[in-house]
Amino acid sequence: MIKENLERVKNSLATGVTLVAVSKTKPIEDLMEAYEAGQRIFGENKVQEMCDKYEAMPKDISWHMIGHLQRNKVKYMAPFVSLIHGVDSERLLVEINKQALKNEVVIDCLLQLHVAEEETKFGFSFLEATQLLNAEDFEEKFSSIKIKGVMAMATNTTNEEQLRKEFSSVSTFFQEVKKIKKSNLDVETVSMGMSGDYKIATEEGSNMVRVGSTIFGKRNYAL
Ligand SMILES: *Cc1c(COP(=O)(O)O)cnc(C)c1O
Repeated sequence: MIKENLERVKNSLATGVTLVAVSKTKPIEDLMEAYEAGQRIFGENKVQEMCDKYEAMPKDISWHMIGHLQRNKVKYMAPFVSLIHGVDSERLLVEINKQALKNEVVIDCLLQLHVAEEETKFGFSFLEATQLLNAEDFEEKFSSIKIKGVMAMATNTTNEEQLRKEFSSVSTFFQEVKKIKKSNLDVETVSMGMSGDYKIATEEGSNMVRVGSTIFGKRNYAL
């Protein structure tokens, strides 16, 4: 089923939209099925789980960290992570830069923006993100990271109008961020949309979607 689900999702995406297959909680067999069907980008939200899967899986996979991240965990994935979606504080960015330096790599990051109604969701406000990127010492302070764009999660609602409003506000902000010129900015990605809302997200400007349950089936957190 995974292969068929993956094909269906891929075929529904316009060219230029990157699919991150969100494999959190799923066993290696399931990931391998997606891998054998051609999928090379996987998203995880727990560092330990991503490290274990990285060890077990073929080495031509791009691993994306999509979850809320604790600073003390960054070191474990710094050698191999290819994109960190959930950068939601300057302190976290400082730690990512430090671990990137140590490993002699540049780590690609997306700034997570808070647009949802829920207080529990993480991220910068548009103003905070703008201030961070425009800070005079931004290039010097973050010489081992590259900001590739922005990420957001919409409110958990079926209200399509609200979803469109939230997604399009991020797209508008993304266009503004693109205009900032700095050596550690290479802004091209806007990561929005999950199983329930990725079609709307791409219609509103997303070019990277993070799809889990539609590909791998429902997650069982009790396991
Ligand atoms: C789990 C998760 C997803 C995927 O969710 P589905 O609804 O299963 O597609 C996408 N983004 C983030 C940040 C997640 O934690």
